[in-house]
Amino acid sequence: MVGRVNRARLAVLVSLAFASGARGDDAQPIDAGAKYDDDASLPQHAEDVVDYTMTAELDPNAHTVHGEGTIVWRNTSETAVREVWVHLYLNAFKNEESTFMREPTLGSRGSGGVNDWGAIDVRKFALDGVDLWPSADKTGGRPGDQDETDVRVPLPREVPPGGSVTFETTWDDKLPAVVERTGYHGSFHMIAQWFPKIARLEPDGRWAHFPFHHLAEFYADFGTYDVTIKAPKAYTMGATGPVVESRDEGDLHVERHVQRDVHDFAWTAFDQYQERTERIAGVNVRVLYPRGYGYVAERSLATIRFALPHYNQRYGKYPYDVLTIVHPPDGAEEAGGMEYPTLFTSEGSWYGPPGVNVIELVTIHEFGHQWFYGLLASDEVTWPFLDEGMNSYAEEEGLHAWLGEGSMVDLMGLKISDADLDGAWPGWRVYDVPVASPAFAFPTGSHYGGLVYARTASIFETVDRVWGRELGARAIGRYARRARFRHPTPEDLLASYEEVVGQDARAMIEEALFHEGWVDFRIEAIHSPRVAPALGIFDRDGKRETVKESTPSDDAGGEYDGFVLVARQGTLVMPVDVDVTLKDGTTTRLHWDGKERFARLPFHGNSPIAFAVVDPDHKVLIDRDRTNDFMRTGNARAPQSSRVLERLTYAAQLFFSEIAP
Ligand SMILES: [Zn+2]
Repeated sequence: MVGRVNRARLAVLVSLAFASGARGDDAQPIDAGAKYDDDASLPQHAEDVVDYTMTAELDPNAHTVHGEGTIVWRNTSETAVREVWVHLYLNAFKNEESTFMREPTLGSRGSGGVNDWGAIDVRKFALDGVDLWPSADKTGGRPGDQDETDVRVPLPREVPPGGSVTFETTWDDKLPAVVERTGYHGSFHMIAQWFPKIARLEPDGRWAHFPFHHLAEFYADFGTYDVTIKAPKAYTMGATGPVVESRDEGDLHVERHVQRDVHDFAWTAFDQYQERTERIAGVNVRVLYPRGYGYVAERSLATIRFALPHYNQRYGKYPYDVLTIVHPPDGAEEAGGMEYPTLFTSEGSWYGPPGVNVIELVTIHEFGHQWFYGLLASDEVTWPFLDEGMNSYAEEEGLHAWLGEGSMVDLMGLKISDADLDGAWPGWRVYDVPVASPAFAFPTGSHYGGLVYARTASIFETVDRVWGRELGARAIGRYARRARFRHPTPEDLLASYEEVVGQDARAMIEEALFHEGWVDFRIEAIHSPRVAPALGIFDRDGKRETVKESTPSDDAGGEYDGFVLVARQGTLVMPVDVDVTLKDGTTTRLHWDGKERFARLPFHGNSPIAFAVVDPDHKVLIDRDRTNDFMRTGNARAPQSSRVLERLTYAAQLFFSEIAP
């Protein structure tokens, strides 16, 4: 998902400029999991846990959906089960007593409130012909709580490990006016979180169930969705999975979509859609967009032309035949910037001019979720950084690989990268709460955005720059392939980085994600006196002589000895480069492993040191304060460009910490 996040980025684009990074290169790979480095390792299919066969009919005037169908659910855990948990997330918008409505919005999307309430009413949820719904606990065992999004349904009989049950269900949705990813706006309908959905059962028999939290996304098991959707003939529909059947039924148009190996199903219907289709890297890509937004559709398609082969290569081949991109109309922005299996929504009415790559950014971000949500299916409530964070990293990498240094803005000579914007965004929030926190533990939407999205991306971008992009690509590629269809945890991610990049990188990532880790490199002192005879009184060969200072000028030639004193504050340990420039103009690059608090990097040369810069290529994207990365000696002239960049960076950090959502 992206939301206000990017709108705010757009608002500040033209006031910023940054230096950007280069490649690192040295670390020794360990090949324990090397078999996961290519697509031969990819599983063909997910474990088939829950299959939904549903029929749904939209009444676009009343904004209601009538649904019915069967749910086949299998107990793939190790323990017998006597209940199922059912998510009714549309009830988040039912009234002001829902968890969603009670939680403070504070800078997150959805803060505009609900203009027309929505709800889901389950009419029947039956097993063996007996309706279980009357005995269901609608508020999920939370006494006094009125939230109706997380429902416990006791079962009349035990489902043993390996056993399965088939529920017959009927329900009615009243869609809300577009809010938090779902609802209607005029005749536009984005229909998401719309059916009774079984929560995921973990292998140990624990139900991973959650009320719909304001800042949280989703988590579910894989299965096959066979869904027949109906809307009046004038409406164009789009949905998860390919159309396998299409017909008219009286005044209605009927489409049957079938997709296996997915964990959700969303659809849209609108009587104003324009449509473009294109086959890209073996996938039928379809863009649905409002009239007048043809240029947006084209820029989305251009993004996918680059991104689909690029992501296939980096994260394992996209396994589905179809991909649908939905551009909501003006006024329906809250439905925008959201991902579903084989379908995502882009943003609404605020598209930037050429040179400001917002359409490209949102498109590649939501597209990336096909991996970091769709195919991996990590628990987005407990570990949101595994989805939004790693996907934001992929977005930075993808946009940079495609558009270069001006990946975010390339306008009249000004180039700003997505990675640099993300680097500055979290500001002081880094010290407030660990990145690796559950979604509902973030105190504000600004913390959620700045830490889950931007900080995660900056941490992994820093790994790429410090230890080398090639190793970084192998580590993330190994993780994404090995974890496909497997609901990975943070340990799966850390293990891949440890195997490929090494223990130091793993330790840095872990500290940065789990313990509010931070780092600030700085040049503490420069010392480079001329090599000269020692002064004082000396008794030599039976004689006493006094050696006095000769005070030669700096430019008098001779040899110079000394050191650069470089310091590392904070809890993150990583190697760093130090460039030492002499008064004669020559520059030498030194390396420091960064393991201690300080290091004296010894120097010997034919000219004194003019200035020194730690991390000159800006590999440490998460360096807290870049204004202290540089030091010059007495009368040396500073390199002008660095000073300008430092000031701009610092100003940008302050600015971001004030306005970023
Ligand atoms: Zn996202």
